[in-house]
Amino acid sequence: MEKGERAYKAHCLVLPYPSQGHINPMLQFSKLLNHKGIKITLANTIFVHNTIQKISSSSSSSSTSIAFETISDGYDEGGITQAESIEAYLDRFRKIGTKTLIELIDRLSGSGNPVDCIVYDAFMPWPLDVAKKFGIVGAVFFTQSCSVDNIFYHVHQGLLKLPLPPDSEILLPGLPPLQPSDMPSFIYVYGSYPAFFTMVVDGQFYNVDKADWVFCNTFYELEEEVVDCMAKLWPLRTIGPTIPSMYLDKRREDDREYGFSLFNPNSDACLTWLNAKPKGSVAYVSFGSLAELGENQMEELGWGLRNSNNYFLWVVREKEAAKLPQGFVEETSGKGLVVSWCPQLDVLANEAVGCFVTHCGWNSTLEALSLGVPMVAVPQWTDQSTNARFIQDVWKMGLKAQADEKGIVRREEIANCVREILEGERGKEIRKNTSKWKELAKNAVDEGGSSDKNIDEFIAKLVQNY
Ligand code: UDP
Repeated sequence: MEKGERAYKAHCLVLPYPSQGHINPMLQFSKLLNHKGIKITLANTIFVHNTIQKISSSSSSSSTSIAFETISDGYDEGGITQAESIEAYLDRFRKIGTKTLIELIDRLSGSGNPVDCIVYDAFMPWPLDVAKKFGIVGAVFFTQSCSVDNIFYHVHQGLLKLPLPPDSEILLPGLPPLQPSDMPSFIYVYGSYPAFFTMVVDGQFYNVDKADWVFCNTFYELEEEVVDCMAKLWPLRTIGPTIPSMYLDKRREDDREYGFSLFNPNSDACLTWLNAKPKGSVAYVSFGSLAELGENQMEELGWGLRNSNNYFLWVVREKEAAKLPQGFVEETSGKGLVVSWCPQLDVLANEAVGCFVTHCGWNSTLEALSLGVPMVAVPQWTDQSTNARFIQDVWKMGLKAQADEKGIVRREEIANCVREILEGERGKEIRKNTSKWKELAKNAVDEGGSSDKNIDEFIAKLVQNY
């Protein structure tokens, strides 16, 4: 088919890193591009693709015209859990992924759908080398905050030396003064998870200078100074928050469906339960798709929720359920509901939810912010401590629960933070701020908003090129 005869403006191949918190934003970004006339093929790993298929009846994205394909990470039966180590996983993914990606692009071209651009996750930078080989556009997508990316970049450049001296004040361009404990865990606890350290500090940046576009899932108004700093280095554009527009302003009914889930949500149970609760009376509690709490922390959290004497909806993933205190579910059934997974956006959008006790994963943070839900920050690892610091002190959208000297957040602290937000004076102030951020987030993705303009600029250049 000749260029001009195509039914679509351009064709983007989107490649998320295979975990829930990376697939969600890249799928939502894909839906947005697709809505603006770009043909999208989203390729998951075979393992992720098959897992999603298994539970797709309740969570597939059937309303979009996105095409779904696969590449292989070399672990088609079990994904990362099948690998002997994270290092082995990432290494094999790069090798087998590159080979199967090249085959996919060839196959798409052969069937009359040549790819114009690869949008790939910053956690797996090798697709840019493939894009260069084919002479097509390469756009890297950062799924963490710009502030966190900036910290990793400074370590990469040797401008932030590790290990950090205790009690030092860390001054980086575009960021407020930070303490070592505000740093992502791979940096603060130097030497923990060396494979992830290498991925976020070296992998993410080794070829970023060659990317045609650098997308960041944030919005300009949220991280203005650091975005300005980083935009001097690369063609960086903010394109978020990647929340389905349905939840922001109820504009696009076609966007209603949330997306993929690697877990089976107890949707009806959660929403029916929430619908029977008074406005702003429920603490929603979730630690995302990966964090694993110690048994001690689970116990403190559980009794803290109970002692706050407010309603709570707590997501405890199947794998974590054995750590629940004995008899907890039965004993608290009048006040709480424990589920193994929920439709988080529907939950956050429900009027009954008055606060979100969160691990501060970047998607959860953006989702709470965009839907105007105050947070109790209980960070666990990776970028979460940095997000928690910003939630409390920079954006003033929540309280950071303080851990004791053993690193455990005790039940009294949990109960106090939940009460303070749902019932206290600080809660009122925080709610005012969350309303402001909710409005700014919506404006950023609305027509003519900062993120919307950036996406239009990308599309205009892409269409010119092909
Ligand atoms: N999520 C969900 N249901 C749940 C818990 C989480 O749909 O019960 C979604 C949530 O909306 C978010 C993602 O899973 O989009 C988690 O991403 P995040 O970056 O917050 O944390 P991660 O799982 O990467 O640690």
